[in-house]
Amino acid sequence: METQPIIVWLRRDLRLADNPAMHAARESGAPVVPVFVFDEEEAFAPGGAAKWWLHRSLRALSVDLTAAGSRLVLRRGRGAETVAEIARSLNASAVFWNRRYAPAHVAADKKLKADLTAAGVEAKSFSAALLREPWEVETKAGAPFRVYSPFWKVLRAAGPSREARPSLRKIRGLPKSPFTEDLDSWGLQPVHPDWAWEFAEVWRPGEAGAHEALKAFLDETAEYYARDRDRPDREATSRLSPHLAFGEISPLQVWRATHARIEAGELDREVGEKFLSEIGWREFSYHLLYFNEGLEAAPLRAEFAALPWRKDKKGFAAWTKGETGFPVVDAGMRQLWRTGWMHNRVRMLVASFLVKDLLIPWQDGASWFWDTLVDADPANNSASWQWVAGCGADAAPFFRIFNPVTQGEKFDPHGAYVRRFVLELSQAPDKFIHKPWEAPKDDLASVGVTLGKTYPARIVDHAFARTRALEAFRSIRKD
Ligand code: FAD
Repeated sequence: METQPIIVWLRRDLRLADNPAMHAARESGAPVVPVFVFDEEEAFAPGGAAKWWLHRSLRALSVDLTAAGSRLVLRRGRGAETVAEIARSLNASAVFWNRRYAPAHVAADKKLKADLTAAGVEAKSFSAALLREPWEVETKAGAPFRVYSPFWKVLRAAGPSREARPSLRKIRGLPKSPFTEDLDSWGLQPVHPDWAWEFAEVWRPGEAGAHEALKAFLDETAEYYARDRDRPDREATSRLSPHLAFGEISPLQVWRATHARIEAGELDREVGEKFLSEIGWREFSYHLLYFNEGLEAAPLRAEFAALPWRKDKKGFAAWTKGETGFPVVDAGMRQLWRTGWMHNRVRMLVASFLVKDLLIPWQDGASWFWDTLVDADPANNSASWQWVAGCGADAAPFFRIFNPVTQGEKFDPHGAYVRRFVLELSQAPDKFIHKPWEAPKDDLASVGVTLGKTYPARIVDHAFARTRALEAFRSIRKD
């Protein structure tokens, strides 16, 4: 029996089902040593909210691995170096991992592959996080895509490149498991203050929680998805984003489960396709991330680097705290702070407000999201901010500036979403819930609202801000 172990370096693939690197290691017959390295210095190291998630996801994975007869090895340090050192100390025959796609990660993994190979250790990488590898989807001319629709058309027609694999029930390890650190000693959970206290009421990190979320969505909500996905006052989306971001479930598993419901006649095909096309946006974001170094920092339309952005510390602070005086913006930012997540439509509104109404660089907003989202994702966060800011490859035009009042009235018509997160306005009349400054003072006073005291006055006038943004945009326009 093979005694030299294979190391599986786990990153954002914290699952035992449909995990190609784990499956390949297990099928080799060699003892398998699953390793996770917490590397605070790596590109896209998790922010505060994602650390909360990571802690719980690792704990869940560790329990599942133990149940399968294995043991998760936890270490802190530089990722590749630590893995190479473990491989050396255990005299491993191979190191397997599932691929990452940020250019910095690709470079680090390539170097590790070269180093291991030079040391006589096999290094093998697998496709696990996407339906198809970024380089497998190309234009007729053989180039990467820069526009979503044709990208999705090609990927949708090709379909996934592999079959989903069932969960690993039994994994042989070494007779004596290597040293592992204590997860609790990593300090991933906030303590003083515990700003994440509400997260646990909303989320169940880990592979079981991911499948529970998918099943609940397909059983209860999916049929309303196409109609209601833009309504933050309704629970119409899957909330799979953090599970996908940590790889607790793969897009392939989501794809297969959705198709199974369609084929069984339990889900309308068009609705199911609409949902899968959002998974398609995730694939597209990864395509952009892979082919564009610095997606998180440099605008894809280079002229945007010269936009006359404003330095506005006070405005930025008001935005982060949900104290801009625009109810739907404030509700979104408070939902983010309280639950580590925000509805997609509201993400678009708050991002547009920061970038266009306040003219604050999109990178500042992306950093705040990075720190506060449990689903913070290198591809989706960077690509979406570029999209809203108008500087992305396939972006909303800069001059399409969301009006936070009319958008609120359209997508949260009775203000139920605002009332849930902006408690000061919970009794405000429907008519003024998205524009309390237009309400007669007495009407507001009778429900306990005094603008500028119990709820902030608007930090900017939208009509003025709109003109200012358009002028700034005109200054960089190249036509
Ligand atoms: P559903 O509507 O149920 O969609 C299913 C899955 O498809 C999602 O879980 C997600 O993986 C993917 N998806 C859906 N919409 C998008 C989209 N527009 N772009 C890319 N993928 C999408 N998503 C993240 O996962 N991480 C981020 O860091 C992130 N940052 C964002 C920042 C901004 C400014 C904006 C406008 C959007 C951002 N998104 C991000 C995309 C989107 O808002 C979330 O994926 C979505 O709200 C998650 O909720 P859900 O799982 O219920 O989505």
